[in-house]
Amino acid sequence: MKKPVDDNKVYAILTDTTLCTGCETCVHACKQTYHLGRDRAWRWKESVDALSSTRFCTVLTKPGDHHIRQQCRHCLEPACVSACPVGALQKTDIGPVIYDSDRCMGCRYCMMACPFGIPRYKWESTVPLVRKCIMCYDRIKAGGEPACTQACPYGATIFGTRAEMLAEARRRIREHPDKYYPKGNPRIWGEHEVGGTSVLYISDISLDFLAWKPNLGDQPVPALTWGALSKVPPVALGVAGLMAVVYWTIGRRIRLQAEAEAQTTRQAPPSTHE
Ligand code: SF4
Ligand code: SF4
Ligand code: SF4
Repeated sequence: MKKPVDDNKVYAILTDTTLCTGCETCVHACKQTYHLGRDRAWRWKESVDALSSTRFCTVLTKPGDHHIRQQCRHCLEPACVSACPVGALQKTDIGPVIYDSDRCMGCRYCMMACPFGIPRYKWESTVPLVRKCIMCYDRIKAGGEPACTQACPYGATIFGTRAEMLAEARRRIREHPDKYYPKGNPRIWGEHEVGGTSVLYISDISLDFLAWKPNLGDQPVPALTWGALSKVPPVALGVAGLMAVVYWTIGRRIRLQAEAEAQTTRQAPPSTHE
């Protein structure tokens, strides 16, 4: 049986949507930290400000002037990690789900598995990678906090241990019992959902739209995924596996070629005609 997570030992982000003004200071702090560049209207994007390879987090605006920050939920038992055949996505001991581009073979199973539709693919690149929030793993490992929570001027998105964030959410609900949704018995999104997440929300509207379907349930998705996969005939898995290997081999060749070209460009002497 899996060891239960100690909420005092994993970090979390609490977003209180009632305090968010939609200023996007958090989004810009993230972009600056990861050198994500400007957003462009690619044809595969729902909108310029949707999650993308240039936006690891975004702020969705809903009728009634509600602003909802969207980012990876850093699930306690992440479906993306269990779906990745080569271990490119990993759940760290302190909470963040991180990504290793050197291992990724581009199969995009993580994108299909995520119940919150978070990972994006860098379609615009000749060497595409999966892109998503990594909860500023290096910063928090060094004792700091995520760039986005540090930047928020309104305390709408804050950082601490999961135990502290749950306690803070409960405190806010206790102090304002009629402010949060559903009234009478407000919910902390991510407390139990899909086995619990490290990004938690309290809100005055339903946040069911952030997931595949309302009421995802409390069971971790990997358990459901493998339950379903075990019913797929082995021959089908064999073909899928073969396709994945072919895809990985081609992707790796493209990547090595691009790296070699980049190195040649760097080493080339400056042109006298420029
Ligand atoms: S929200 Fe999606 S991408 Fe993020 S950890 Fe959970 S399954 Fe993985
Ligand atoms: S936690 Fe870090 S990577 Fe994730 S959205 Fe915030 S700044 Fe970006
Ligand atoms: S910085 Fe804070 S208030 Fe501004 S959009 Fe982000 S979460 Fe909302």
